[in-house]
Amino acid sequence: MKPPVSAHPPTRCSVCGSSDLRAFGDKDFGESGADPFEQRRVFADYGVRVAYHQCGSCRFTFSAAFDNWSPADFETHVYNDDYVLSDKPFLSERPLRNAAIVAGLYHRERESVDILDVGGGKGVFAQALREAGFSAATRDLYFMGSEVAATQRFDLITTFEVIEHVRHDQQQAWMAALAGQLKTQPSARVLISTELIAPDHTIGWWYLCPRNGHISVHSARSLGLLASAVGLRLFSVNPSMHWLAPAA
Ligand SMILES: [Zn+2]
Repeated sequence: MKPPVSAHPPTRCSVCGSSDLRAFGDKDFGESGADPFEQRRVFADYGVRVAYHQCGSCRFTFSAAFDNWSPADFETHVYNDDYVLSDKPFLSERPLRNAAIVAGLYHRERESVDILDVGGGKGVFAQALREAGFSAATRDLYFMGSEVAATQRFDLITTFEVIEHVRHDQQQAWMAALAGQLKTQPSARVLISTELIAPDHTIGWWYLCPRNGHISVHSARSLGLLASAVGLRLFSVNPSMHWLAPAA
């Protein structure tokens, strides 16, 4: 089934509001993040081109091709039974590696820190932390639903490889919801993983992969702007891993 993408170009950057949007190129819907690792095209061409755009001001790089899609559409065309083929570490390798990182960083606080994993797939990360003595819950729109009430607040919110899947026009609301579940004390933290786009990246960059649902890729500037709009400050460990902390 061919995914019904929209060719309607966006008019404004959803992060900074600039109207300086530039065509960044397009690629087939079937291009996946697994391709460079397996050195082959994992999915055949769908014959459907997906256009990306880049903001000339903040360099947020995104596709508007899925602007009309409901969660059910994403489930049909992206987060379906073949999804794992586009990202094999998704099932257990990545969540277990990230659980080990967090368990190490917070080991002295494991009985007091409340952790929420947003977009945590099937809950492997939170389960591993619970087995290590932590309190950890998962919220995932597609794979789990939510184990927590929207009003519950947390000391640490983790969200690994998620923000790039959120539609450009929902980025601000998504970040606001994240901030809304963070406790207000200065020690509260958000830990985000997503690959930041660099000035020399082009449409051929592997992380712009439609079959994985990578439709919103941030620059350091755009991620910082999104965070500061909800009172958080960005500290990047490297181009992949980022802390958000209360700004004041
Ligand atoms: Zn922008």
